[in-house]
Amino acid sequence: MWHAVGLPRIIAVVRFDPDSRNYAELAGAVCAVRIASRVTRRLQAEMGGAFLTKDDRSPVTVADYAAQALVSLALPAEDAIVGEETSPDLVTPEGREVMTRVVDAVGSELPDVAAKQVGEAIDRCSSAGGASGRFWVLDPIDGTKGFLRGDQYAIALGLMEDGEVVGGVLGCPNLPSADGRGCLFAATRGRGAWELPLDEEGYAPRRIGVSPVADSTDAVFCESAVSMHSDRGGHAGIAERLGVTAAPVRMDSQCKYGAIARGDASIYLRLPSSATYREKIWDHAAGFIVVTEAGGAVTDAFGRELDFSLGRTLETNRGVVATNGLLHREVLAAAAAVLPQAPAA
Ligand code: AMP
Ligand code: MG
Repeated sequence: MWHAVGLPRIIAVVRFDPDSRNYAELAGAVCAVRIASRVTRRLQAEMGGAFLTKDDRSPVTVADYAAQALVSLALPAEDAIVGEETSPDLVTPEGREVMTRVVDAVGSELPDVAAKQVGEAIDRCSSAGGASGRFWVLDPIDGTKGFLRGDQYAIALGLMEDGEVVGGVLGCPNLPSADGRGCLFAATRGRGAWELPLDEEGYAPRRIGVSPVADSTDAVFCESAVSMHSDRGGHAGIAERLGVTAAPVRMDSQCKYGAIARGDASIYLRLPSSATYREKIWDHAAGFIVVTEAGGAVTDAFGRELDFSLGRTLETNRGVVATNGLLHREVLAAAAAVLPQAPAA
């Protein structure tokens, strides 16, 4: 059952793709991402660069926790969720202060929710994922570093069934759009990819498709804005082999997948920057289906299919390459020339 909070908005949500089997789920997911986007947009404007540092040294903000809580509260209570965050350590004064602000932020959309429920909603997202059943995959603020810089970030929500991505929604509050107020991408398997306004009362939803560029010298490629998240030297090597002349578009978060899906760019390179790092499923699930349903292709850097069925990471994959499909084989061939040999899966 959907929480009551979602229902009135779901009805008003979208007229896209009413035949889809996953329509109800996706309309609910769109609603959840819109609610979280409203709050993160306000927090990004208010917060400046306030953040905590997690054990892995990555930053996390009030907005990460608030967005995870809001999406979690908006999704059906019985659904499993694989989410990036666990609630802040309430034993420390800093953690308690963060949690107070998280509860305030959640309360701006859901005034009746108690602090305890907010903590539970965040911690509920601890599913291990895997190859069976149906569960959501959530990155509440993908691209936290971009968020802190006042730049691009995404609220990324994927839907998995028996180890495969069957739906996805990407809220991109700072990505250019027809009404200049950010946009949202949504896709269900076999039903195409759509761009919708981030606000309910925006422009009409439109079906999107990848760029028609077939000559790699005309290609625009994108990569992470954070140099240590991928191998920029390798990307430059690929670009040189392909004869790409345009400078790379550097952008945080799965907005890059959105850019490929609607044809703003035709190649997204994410060659591994370390031999030990494993990509997280929440960094790719929603983007993967948005691009593939828009007609593009997504594999790892060695051309292997992404395997989302192995838990919280893409354990057997290394890096990611997404393209408009037409250029995929050529990009992988160039990648093979600049990469070391494929590691055993
Ligand atoms: P992006 O904005 O494209 O740089 O992607 C942001 C995501 O990169 C974050 O959500 C992290 O989970 C992920 N990340 C962190 N460290 C690495 C790394 N060494 N290689 C690849 N991705 C990483
Ligand atoms: Mg992320």
